[in-house]
Amino acid sequence: MENNFDINNLVRENVKSMKPYSSARDEFEDFDTADMIFLDANENPFENGVNRYPDPQQSRVKMVLAKQKNVKPNQILLGNGSDEVLDLIFRAFCEPKVDNVITLPPTYGMYGVLANINAVENREVLLSEEFQPQVEKILETVDENTKIIFLCSPNNPTANSFSDKSVVYLLQNFKGLIVIDEAYIDFSKKQSWMNELDEYPNLIITQTLSKAYGLAGIRLGICYASAAVISVLNKIKPPYNVNELTQMRALERLNDPENIKSEITSIISQREELLKVLVNVKFVEKIYPTEANFILIKVDDANKRYEQLIAKGIVIRNRTTQPLCENTLRLTIGTEQENKKLMEALQA
Ligand SMILES: *Cc1c(COP(=O)(O)O)cnc(C)c1O
Repeated sequence: MENNFDINNLVRENVKSMKPYSSARDEFEDFDTADMIFLDANENPFENGVNRYPDPQQSRVKMVLAKQKNVKPNQILLGNGSDEVLDLIFRAFCEPKVDNVITLPPTYGMYGVLANINAVENREVLLSEEFQPQVEKILETVDENTKIIFLCSPNNPTANSFSDKSVVYLLQNFKGLIVIDEAYIDFSKKQSWMNELDEYPNLIITQTLSKAYGLAGIRLGICYASAAVISVLNKIKPPYNVNELTQMRALERLNDPENIKSEITSIISQREELLKVLVNVKFVEKIYPTEANFILIKVDDANKRYEQLIAKGIVIRNRTTQPLCENTLRLTIGTEQENKKLMEALQA
């Protein structure tokens, strides 16, 4: 498929003919800007750290990420959270009221929301009872207007990863784009699909600084793909979609990998502690395998147990209305102290 995959066959007609918006600063990227006077963007000239527009290409952040993840900077697109990245993918490739995408519930709700916002049909193919993609059913659902299949692995809210076999099968047999949302990859023993980017030109990977990296508040989502896919997305992204404060905080954090690693280690060890306790909680009927920073459990009565925990000042996520998730609750792993309180509450 590598030989006959051409991203241009998937790009919307109006996007194909577009050139990226050229901001005032874009035009000067080849100059040594240190001694220049910038009177081109109607900014306030008095320096306060953020009086200038941010780098529209976030070159410094991308340079660090490229090095850490072993890709080229032109294989990276950054957005205002993964949510913006996912929205850009819809807008670049899905013609409203014509094209469709496939999602695999129970999964992250934003794919469906973004499909709705963009007037793109969302074809839902339920996961199996083991929360794995039903690959044959998925491929039967594909038609000539199916542009994207969204795979969330590890999946939210089920916490498991999808089998390599099914992911590879879809990558090899679907002629459109496969987006693998790896928001939780840092909590998994599995390798990222990033290592396969060169193998599959139809692969797009999204990651985020919101979970393992501890920066949900700054909104930084990351997209890794072929340079060809990234250049399409660059055409349509708002020029200043990642603000200066976000870029500064992201750089600071990315340059402190030891701290990130130790927090992930702590979260994973807390997860294992919580799993041990859950086995002995009477109303817990099933604990699903987890490769994320949360645990999905099936209980006797999700609404009742949810309310009981609220009464004890602990807020968890009730997933009982999701398909295949009747009477399930999703517990995020907190600090050691928070988990101790949760465990006490569960045992009470
Ligand atoms: C939390 C989460 C994200 C993160 O989204 P941001 O917009 O980057 O905060 C993405 N995908 C999934 C599946 C998530 O659960």
